[in-house]
Parts: sequence; C-alpha cells; structure tokens
Amino acid sequence: MKNIAIIGGGASGLVCAIECAKAGLDVTLFEQNDKCGKKILVSGNGKCNITNKFLHIEDFEGEDKRVVETILQHFGFKDQQEYFASLGLLLQVKEDGKCYPYSMEAKSVLDILLAAAAQYGAKIKTGVKVAKIEKGFFLTLENGERTKFDRVVIAAGSKAASHLGGNESGYAMAEYFGHTINKPYPSLVQLLSTSKYPKMMSGVKIDAEITLLVNGVKEQHMRGDVLFTDYGLSGLAVLDLSQKASEALLHSYAVDVQVNLLPGWNQTHLASHIAAVAKNNPSYTIETVLHTLLPLKVVRALLDFLDIDRASRQMDMKLVKRIVFRLQRWSFAISDTKGFRYAEVSGGGVRTNEIDPYTFESKKQKGLYFVGEVLDVVGRRGGYNFAFAWGSGYLCAQAIIGK
Ligand SMILES: Cc1cc2nc3c(=O)[nH]c(=O)nc-3n(C[C@H](O)[C@H](O)[C@H](O)COP(=O)(O)OP(=O)(O)OC[C@H]3O[C@@H](n4cnc5c(N)ncnc54)[C@H](O)[C@@H]3O)c2cc1C
Repeated sequence: MKNIAIIGGGASGLVCAIECAKAGLDVTLFEQNDKCGKKILVSGNGKCNITNKFLHIEDFEGEDKRVVETILQHFGFKDQQEYFASLGLLLQVKEDGKCYPYSMEAKSVLDILLAAAAQYGAKIKTGVKVAKIEKGFFLTLENGERTKFDRVVIAAGSKAASHLGGNESGYAMAEYFGHTINKPYPSLVQLLSTSKYPKMMSGVKIDAEITLLVNGVKEQHMRGDVLFTDYGLSGLAVLDLSQKASEALLHSYAVDVQVNLLPGWNQTHLASHIAAVAKNNPSYTIETVLHTLLPLKVVRALLDFLDIDRASRQMDMKLVKRIVFRLQRWSFAISDTKGFRYAEVSGGGVRTNEIDPYTFESKKQKGLYFVGEVLDVVGRRGGYNFAFAWGSGYLCAQAIIGK
C-alpha cells in the first residue's frame, strides 16, 4: 500500500486526502494550525463561495495555465457540484454564478470534508508543522520526528493571510527539489495611496466606477463598492482591480486608480443639473449644492483638491464643468498593496510548467506533487480560487491512485 504524506490541511489538501484514503491508500495529512481549513471557515464572509458556475480560463492568472485547462476539462463546475453532492453537501447556485453550501455556512463545508476524511481513514495530524522534506521523502516535523513516505503532496498554500497559516514553506520545499518560484504578490487586497484625500473621505463607501491606470494606460474597469480609508482604497471593486494593480506594482510601474463618483450620470446632464440647483437656490453654498449628490466628506475633499472655497456661492458654468470633470475622473496614486497579511490570495508561486499539467506531479522529482495556491495560479473573486484548489487536489489524487 502506498504511504502518502499531504502537507497542508486546507481546501486542496483535504480533498486530496479524502480521495486517496477512499481508494485505500495510507494517508497522513499534516496541518500546522490547531485545526484544518481556517481559510475555508472565514471564506465568503463566513458563507464560503465554494465554486462558480461560470469557470473560464480567463478568470485565472498565471504564467502557464495548462493546469487550469485540465481542471476545467476534467473537474469543472458540474463535476465539482456532483462531487460535493456525493459527500452529501448540496450547493446553492446564485444568478451571478457564485455557489455556496446549501446551509450558507462555511463551517458545514469544513465539517463535511473532515467527516469524509475520517470516514475513509485519513490520518489528520493538526498542530504539526512539517519543517523540511529531504530526498527519499523523509519528512522532518518541527518536533524533530522523522518519517519516510512513498509519495508527498505539497498543499501548503501561499503567503496570503499569514494569520490563518499563510507562509512560504511550500515554496522552500519546492526549491529544495529544484523548482523555480515566480515571485509571489498579494492579490484580492486593499490598495495604499499616497494621496491625502482617501484619508479625508475615510469611512465613506460608495457605488462607483473605477479604472486601473498602469503607466497612464487604462488596464481594467470595474463598477461596485469603493471604500475610502485612512491608508487608501478598499471595497469589493478595489479588490477586483487589485490583482492587476499588484502585478503592475511588482514591475515598479506607475499605478493609479481613477474613480467616477457619480457613474450613472452623463457629464452634460450632470453639469446642467448642478447649475440648475445653484441657480434656483442662490443662497446655497457650493458645498450644499454638491451635498445634494454626494456625502459631505467627499464634497469637502473634492473642493479642497480643486482649491475651491466651499462657502462660496459663485457657481458659473465653467466652475461647474471643472467640478463635474473631476468628480467623474478623480485619480489616486497607488504606492503599494496592503500586503500579504491582508490579501485573500497570492499570485506567483511554483512555476506550473515544471509540473505535469494532468497529474500535478513534479517534473523534477517523481512522486512529489503540488496542489492549490502554492502553484503560480490565482483566480478572481467569486469562488475561482477554491475551484482551483478542489480541482487540483482531486485530480492529483486520481493520478496517485492510478486512475
Ligand atoms: C479571508 C479570505 C476569504 C476567502 N474567500 C474565498 C471565497 O469565498 N472563495 C474562494 O474561492 N476563495 C476564497 N479565498 C481563497 C481560498 O481560501 C484559497 O484560495 C484556498 O484556501 C487555497 O487552498 P489551499 O489548499 O491551496 O491553501 P490553504 O487553504 O491556505 O491551506 C494550506 C494549509 O497548509 C498549512 N501549512 C502551510 N505550511 C505548512 C507546513 N509546513 N506544515 C503543515 N501545514 C502547513 C496552512 O496552515 C494551511 O492550513 C479566501 C481567502 C481568504 C484569506
């Protein structure tokens, strides 16, 4: 009987453990945290956006996406839905394609995975960190214990969310066997700005249109929540842009986020509307006129930026047009992301062209496998990262058991 070590008890490691154990293999999973699946528990705001009905290759970033193609072909949405149903976990599929457990509780996903792993006899060792692997697949644990295995699956995740277990040990193990690591970068993460204005508007959340500018060129466009904070920009639309922003920052490109604070309005119509409110109410200050459309903190920051006296009552059309232009195209220079601690996921990782795209086995070391976020694949927000984690864990297990 093959004796398998799985390093990491997150999404990819647990599915791999269940499948190998189900096939009768002797499976030991090592998890450094006191419990498995900490990221599963907090995912999707505690609901776990488990996968997505619309999985496409363009939803993923990475140097070589053949591993993603394999998952889309052999363990795509339907297969994932059926797989979870086979474990007894039904999914709710939302109109936008996002899928959640029927209970809408992330804990039910983790409970089912742990129950299935136990049912098939996988040994789960929590609070046990693997310190290193050596040739011959000798695993040394942090407590000094040393054990030999026939196969090793590295499911140790990425550097993202260090408070939940994110670290670099998977990369170090890969490097030991001669693998190359594409530089990791934080993704689905808040952005830091050097501008003083996000701080002035701190706490304001608005539905806006945002455009990512890289070296002044429009790179990506989003509509959704933007939250101004003391450090810069947050909110779901900003997280969605952060993948490309973070990649650009890694290359030291100039990154700006341009915000349209009133996206539903045509520029001419908006200018006429503001001018009419001012004309019909000559005693209103500029601040009061704009406050009919925008939160006060935003109005004050914008007028400060444009160097306009907020107590003034003089609003000619030229001034109105200047205000309208800026409030629909206000750029904030981005200096960095908030970093790995706050990132939901990480881009970069073990180069996937050094991995067999069908089996997830290392091309450098037979019997060694990589699954999940430790690989240089990152998905967008919406269940795509779990889709990759489950898919790689499942297909790797099929390869190990010889299917
Ligand atoms: C706040 C938050 C919300 C998220 N929400 C969603 C969502 O709704 N939908 C979605 O698709 N994705 C979501 N993600 C991303 C998703 O959680 C990850 O992509 C996914 O968990 C990756 O699975 P993995 O198995 O590769 O790694 P992980 O889940 O990170 O598991 C790796 C495990 O390995 C352990 N480990 C590391 N090194 C060692 C070692 N040396 N020895 C022993 N154990 C080790 C770690 O402690 C960890 O438990 C979210 C992430 C975060 C942080």
